Amino acid sequence: MDKALSPEVMPDAKGMFGEYGGQEIPPQLKAVMDEITEAYYRIRQTEAFQNELRSLLKHYVGRPSPIYFCKRLSEKCGGANIYLKREDLNHTGAHKINHCLGEALLAKSMGKTKVLAETGAGQHGVALATACALMGIPCEIHMGEIDIEKEHPNVMRMKVLGATVVPVSRGTRTLKDAVDSAFEEYLKDPKNFLYAIGSVVGPHPFPMMVRDFQQIVGEEAREQIQEMTGKLPDMVTACVGGGSNAIGLFTAFFGDENVRIVGVEPSGKGLDTPDHAATITKGKPGVLHGFRCYLLQNDSGEPLPVYSIASGLDYPGVGPQHSYLKDLGRVEYVSATDEECLEAFVALSRLEGIIPALESAHAVAYAMKIAPELPGKNILVNLSGRGDKDLDFVVNRLKL
Ligand SMILES: *Cc1c(COP(=O)(O)O)cnc(C)c1O
Repeated sequence: MDKALSPEVMPDAKGMFGEYGGQEIPPQLKAVMDEITEAYYRIRQTEAFQNELRSLLKHYVGRPSPIYFCKRLSEKCGGANIYLKREDLNHTGAHKINHCLGEALLAKSMGKTKVLAETGAGQHGVALATACALMGIPCEIHMGEIDIEKEHPNVMRMKVLGATVVPVSRGTRTLKDAVDSAFEEYLKDPKNFLYAIGSVVGPHPFPMMVRDFQQIVGEEAREQIQEMTGKLPDMVTACVGGGSNAIGLFTAFFGDENVRIVGVEPSGKGLDTPDHAATITKGKPGVLHGFRCYLLQNDSGEPLPVYSIASGLDYPGVGPQHSYLKDLGRVEYVSATDEECLEAFVALSRLEGIIPALESAHAVAYAMKIAPELPGKNILVNLSGRGDKDLDFVVNRLKL
């Protein structure tokens, strides 16, 4: 195995994955981030932390999530066999609970008095509010007013779970403004608050820490698929927004030279339009939210407004480890359009009785597209979440 790809040696002490990642933040925040890094290294080695996390993942989240062979979908596509890792079956319906529990446990062990975050569609907000309810820590979620209108059920969930939802009325009143607002609140008392980042993004140690908490997905899947099929898969694939569900699956397979690893970005209305969020495919290295990564940016380095049918993929940056893996060539990054995503959403629902999140449907769409070229091969797709949240939108859009 290429040493540089081993999770143990990535990132380096400065939080760099090659030239990506790091801490592009003011010095006083750097000290706070270093404190979080130290606390994380310290507690993750303790048996108490490992036992508590393992127990929660099993008895609370419902892990291990199964893998499932999509017989009818595979027959329909013709060619490869398509398998799913069922993260949609986790408590709260997606992979995000894996890292939110880790972050909330860390906050508790550090004696933090409030956990803060932004949310776009509300998925991260709900997972974090859930973890904080469980740990008994106050939770504050900043959310753009536009998103609050669009994502009513998730807003209600957060409120019922006891979180404070702060409406953000500045700027475009969506995700980026919510980040700015949550960050301002965080800066009021970074010693006592924890900003719980929702993906493998942000300054060090978050890309490493969230990756570590998500690795359970790939560890389980690698064993399960060998048990089911007698061998490793020929390809593993996942959608990439910030990149946490993808890195969680991919990490277990980096040492397996014969396993192709493919990340799927949202190409929205098309790569030749401005309406996409295919960061790695079309971006250039830059700085966003405290770290260096591939970035969709204008000539002066400002992040561009981005678009995806799946709000969880609608981010102009991407995790630093993905940026590095792209340059190394170990992971291939491709994209799927809104149309392909919707087709996959309906196909999986009607052929297998599984309604995927629109985010996850991007990875299913790629598997469906490549399957005819890979007869007899096995493709493992990370089904990162369930599609309940997307039902109204899809029914309206497709006039079902
Ligand atoms: C948030 C979300 C994503 C995108 O986040 P990543 O960090 O790229 O995994 C994907 N799928 C679902 C279901 C989500 O909720």
